[in-house]
Amino acid sequence: GKGGFDNGVLNRVRVAVRLRPRNAEELEADADFADCVELQPEFKRLKLRKNNWDCETYQFDEVLTETASQKRVYEVVAKPVVEGVLEGYNGTVMAYGQTGTGKTFTLGRLGEEDCADRGIMVRAMEDILANITPGEDTVTVSYLQLYMETVQDLLAPERDNIAIQEDPKTGDVSVPGATQVLLQDQTSFVRLLDVGEANRFAANTKLNTESSRSHALLVVQVKKGYKGRSGDTATNENDNGSPQTGTGLRAPIIRRSKLLIVDLAGSERVDKSGSEGHTLEEAKSINLSLTALGKCINALAENSPHVPIRDSKLTRLLRDSFGGTARTSLIVTIGPSPRHRGETTSTILFGQRAM
Ligand code: ADP
Ligand code: MG
Repeated sequence: GKGGFDNGVLNRVRVAVRLRPRNAEELEADADFADCVELQPEFKRLKLRKNNWDCETYQFDEVLTETASQKRVYEVVAKPVVEGVLEGYNGTVMAYGQTGTGKTFTLGRLGEEDCADRGIMVRAMEDILANITPGEDTVTVSYLQLYMETVQDLLAPERDNIAIQEDPKTGDVSVPGATQVLLQDQTSFVRLLDVGEANRFAANTKLNTESSRSHALLVVQVKKGYKGRSGDTATNENDNGSPQTGTGLRAPIIRRSKLLIVDLAGSERVDKSGSEGHTLEEAKSINLSLTALGKCINALAENSPHVPIRDSKLTRLLRDSFGGTARTSLIVTIGPSPRHRGETTSTILFGQRAM
């Protein structure tokens, strides 16, 4: 149904928009101007001011105002996806928007256990770790950067041209060349994210680029093992279908699922990001993957049989965690400044194409 996840049917992408509060500069510079958007969260509507007279209204699955807490954002955008992952369905949470609008704040913000500002990655892992059985279930994590169609391991940056593997039979995507950390607890996860962030910063400094030019992907793999228990009715993915009788025990059941959390590169257009050489190539390749993503999202929304997933490495990485029975949430982040009306408009339209 619209607005919810329906397993068994093709899931469309759920889209939320989040407005960043005015920053100090905007409070001062735009003091005499209204924000370029007006949110009506109770109607899940956003009004985009085109000029002093005209505005356009857009509907989203969720509208998160500048006062929405990180907790609420997690619950609305990510929790249903995480719950799916714990039930054995793959899922993706992505943030799309202009640089500076809050993608990393929303997804990656780190913090101690009780820090109210902690972001989706940290909260998702808390929920996952709270719902697995130690010793029986496992959680592994990889952290990747995709820059100019090259996959780099953020946990071992010397691995900087990693191949993406796709199982031709199952369609499962894997990146076997990347570090996979078997997670024991939340503390080691936060430490791991810290290491990844530091490596991301160092790698980008070396390449003389900004982290806003690359995509960061957190890959969480959950393997749940159910030891044969009497009366267990779950079905085994490897089951041959024959009922087991006699002992009252079933064969061990293994369920694997994957959660991707993707901090996308800044969506600002080519012509703004510089004019020559490397920078233009870079901008083109970012546009390539974001354009490919847009096309796939569009195809899903239209129930098109052809989802052009092979067009970029980004969409290839998403392949098994996007559409189908996977749950996908897209959060589009925008700023309030009327000076960025153009970028804000194109971000809103990107989100609308998914619906
Ligand atoms: P992006 O990753 O999209 O480039 P950031 O997440 O780095 O943007 O956010 C830019 C700045 O705005 C940061 O200083 C961040 O702390 C701040 N910020 C973003 N979203 C919020 C929010 N919802 N509330 C408070 N500060 C925010
Ligand atoms: Mg960022």
